[in-house]
Amino acid sequence: MKLFRVDGGVHPEYRKERTSEHPIVLFPLPKILCLPLKQHAGAAAELVVSSGKRVKKGELLARAGGGVSAPIHAPTSGTVVDINDMTAPHPSGLTQKTIVLRPDRKDEWGELPPPIDDPFEVPPEEIDKRVAWAGIVGLGGAAFPSAIKLGLREKKLDILILNGAECEPYLTCDDRIMQEYAAEVVEGARIMAHSLGLWRIIVAIETNKPAAIAAMTKAAAPYQSITVAPIPVQYPMGSERHLTKAITGRETPAGKLTADVGVVVHNVGTARAVRDAVRFGRPLISRVITMSGGGLTKGMNIEVPLGTMIADLIDFCGGFTDGKSPYRLISGGPMMGQPLPSLDVPVVKGTGGILALTKAEINEQPSGPCIRCGACVGVCPCGLVPLEMAGFIRHDKFEEAEKAGVRDCVSCGSCSFICPSHIPLVQYFNYAKGRLTSADRDRRKQEHLKKLVEARLARMEKQRQAKAAAAAAAKAAKAAPAPTPTDEPKASA
Ligand code: SF4
Ligand code: SF4
Repeated sequence: MKLFRVDGGVHPEYRKERTSEHPIVLFPLPKILCLPLKQHAGAAAELVVSSGKRVKKGELLARAGGGVSAPIHAPTSGTVVDINDMTAPHPSGLTQKTIVLRPDRKDEWGELPPPIDDPFEVPPEEIDKRVAWAGIVGLGGAAFPSAIKLGLREKKLDILILNGAECEPYLTCDDRIMQEYAAEVVEGARIMAHSLGLWRIIVAIETNKPAAIAAMTKAAAPYQSITVAPIPVQYPMGSERHLTKAITGRETPAGKLTADVGVVVHNVGTARAVRDAVRFGRPLISRVITMSGGGLTKGMNIEVPLGTMIADLIDFCGGFTDGKSPYRLISGGPMMGQPLPSLDVPVVKGTGGILALTKAEINEQPSGPCIRCGACVGVCPCGLVPLEMAGFIRHDKFEEAEKAGVRDCVSCGSCSFICPSHIPLVQYFNYAKGRLTSADRDRRKQEHLKKLVEARLARMEKQRQAKAAAAAAAKAAKAAPAPTPTDEPKASA
């Protein structure tokens, strides 16, 4: 199939061989599971259980907390032993309200919605509802609620891209899912296409995953609507807008969605989760993650109940090499992942991998001054000028950075990777985006406050006018002459 050129990008060392040959293993139930209420983009889920409650596997623990949110279900049967603030798997180290579940080892399913034997016979809205109920979010890392993306039918869509690029170094969980669950992934993709009203599905897989390409090609063979597209190995090919460009040649304008150019992108793991939810009424309670890095005794791909503590996973992989803590512990890949504040944080829906990296793997160097070599400009897949944006941000000129396009930065880290002066450019951009978002929030709050004050003043003015009118009417009534006997109504005959 014809592919289109995508500018920019880099070629880091992929280091996938450490885990790519390891089949997915099931993680045994741990002693404790910790489930933060916010493990997705959007509002935190709202508790529906209290401490002491016994729950069954798949039972609702917290419902969606708004239009953009996702519910959370029990990964196994057991007792809710606590609900408290715990450290989130985020570099900030901030705490989040978390449900602590002690498994009872019976792993007993609760009541689930009925299976849908033929998903292609039910209306698309039923699929969306089931996916929303199941708490499925994008398992490629963004953790955006999938039901919302399936509800984009009002846009003029023509292609569903199934994202099997997995361009981040080290990570191989999507590769293994495609090799081991190809039929399930294909069925999930067909269900999603049905929900979106689409007939064309393209499975995009980087050419460094030949076994996954073969497995998906075989599983897709009976369906004319599905094409498996081997795509070049080029980081960050897995980003939605770059995949869209490579497959369709369409550019997604800044600030727009790929759906605005007719394309919806879903991750292969998400497709498998959608199939399980629709066909069998199973909520999202586990996910496959890659455990890797030179600091870990054994690299593995593991299907893990959500809420499993990272410390338990490290033990399962034989602990740290030589018993020493790694130089850096990362959730996700080395390019876009986030440093973990501690081992006492759980796996959440968006966790694609845990990397224990040695100093040699990080190759961290002290940063120097910009030598204006332009390398960062050449690799930016979004056509930005990183050195210019960084210059503005260094001087707190966030509005200038915004005008230069910092909001369009997809935080791929290619510029930081290539910079010969080792300037942590992507950190500047993440910081600036955070500042701009918080300024937006403040602005919205101010506008809301202004509207409230204006509404109150308008209400007070209305009350004042009503009072004045009533007083004037009373005064007029008082000033009017008393009725004379002739004004009395005549008695009827
Ligand atoms: S790559 Fe680094 S040194 Fe070169 S222009 Fe960009 S910021 Fe400056
Ligand atoms: S500016 Fe943003 S999008 Fe461009 S290379 Fe750097 S991190 Fe990637």
